This record gives sequence, structure tokens and C-alpha cells, in this order.
Amino acid sequence: MARTVQQKQGWIGWLLFRDLWTGLRLTLRYMFSKTITHKYPDHEKWLPYHRHRGHHFMKTNDEGDVNCVGCELCAKICPCDCITVIPYEDEKGNRRPKVFDINLSRCLYCGLCEDACPADAIKLGQEYEVASTTTDALIVHLEDLIAAPHKAEKGAGTVIPASLSKNGSGKTIDQANGKGHDWWQMLKRKNNQTKD
Ligand code: SF4
Ligand code: SF4
Repeated sequence: MARTVQQKQGWIGWLLFRDLWTGLRLTLRYMFSKTITHKYPDHEKWLPYHRHRGHHFMKTNDEGDVNCVGCELCAKICPCDCITVIPYEDEKGNRRPKVFDINLSRCLYCGLCEDACPADAIKLGQEYEVASTTTDALIVHLEDLIAAPHKAEKGAGTVIPASLSKNGSGKTIDQANGKGHDWWQMLKRKNNQTKD
């Protein structure tokens, strides 16, 4: 989590309006620096950090079964009441979800469901392009969660080449061979002003 480091200043700083001059210097620096435009969604796309909380995904085991044991803890802890779990017992005697729906139009992306899950099944991943013109499309089912992108590992925190999908989904698609760049560094932020 980014946080600003506050510098203590003495009475001389107050007297000389040190904060005011620091702010003005920063404003002037950006006024005369090169403008950086993030070309999203036509040519570039942000690849979030590993810790980003986006569209949920469901983890599966080596046999292809979902990790979820249908305990409903995630549904109970969800502050928005947007998870629906209906469990059943499969042929091996394992408890699994028959229905696992998440209403993304109500979701806060708080991550409480991920924290509460005892089976390491539900996670919040890197996908953030979830906008839709209908709320029905924002109710995602078990198969959507299994297919959803996982957390970003490689190249996280960079901007990668991408283009808008032509299939009418309105989402961008990643360009596999493109080299990413650190967009924040291009903004020339002072390293001693913020820390991750
Ligand atoms: S991220 Fe938070 S609001 Fe969204 S489904 Fe999980 S617990 Fe509910
Ligand atoms: S995702 Fe986790 S917490 Fe939710 S029902 Fe499945 S096992 Fe339980």
C-alpha cells in the first residue's frame, strides 16, 4: 500500500511557507515536463500488482476439481451478501459447490471472502475489465470463476501492449510478444516521496 512520508518541519519552515513552495515546485515541474498518456484500451493495458483485488477466480486441484468444499463461509462473511453457494456431495463423497455465484455489481472487492476461505479456493485476481451495460452480466457463475485470470505474477505493475477485442466483448486483449514498461517511472515521481 502506497503511503506518503511526512517530513517534520520546524518553525522556520512554517514562517517561510515551506509546504507552499514545495507544492508549487512540484506543480511547475509537471507543467513543463513531457505529457505521458496511457493509451488504454486501444494500445496499452495496465497489468496490476500481485496484491491487486479484481475479478474473483476459483482455484482447482491437480485432478481438475475445484478446491471449494461448499462450506459457505465466504457467503456468510461477505458484507454485501453477493455470494450464493449451494453445496452438494459428489460421487467420491466430497462436498462441492453445485451453485457458486457472485454478483459483481454489489461486490466491494474487499477480499474478505478470500481471507475467510479455509480451502484456498476463492481468490481475487488481476482482471479489472468487468464493466457491463446490464447487471445480469455481472452475476458470474462457477465456470466463469474457474476460467477467470489468476493473480498477475510476471510483469506485474507494468503497462503492456494490448488492443481492444474485436469480438464485441469490449475488453482488451494482451499482446503476448510485447515488452512492458513502468508507467509510474515515466511520471518521474520522486522515490523518497512514496513507498510501496
Ligand atoms: S470481495 Fe468482499 S464484497 Fe466482494 S464477494 Fe468477496 S467478501 Fe463479498
Ligand atoms: S470458496 Fe472457500 S469459503 Fe467459499 S464455500 Fe468454497 S471453501 Fe467455503
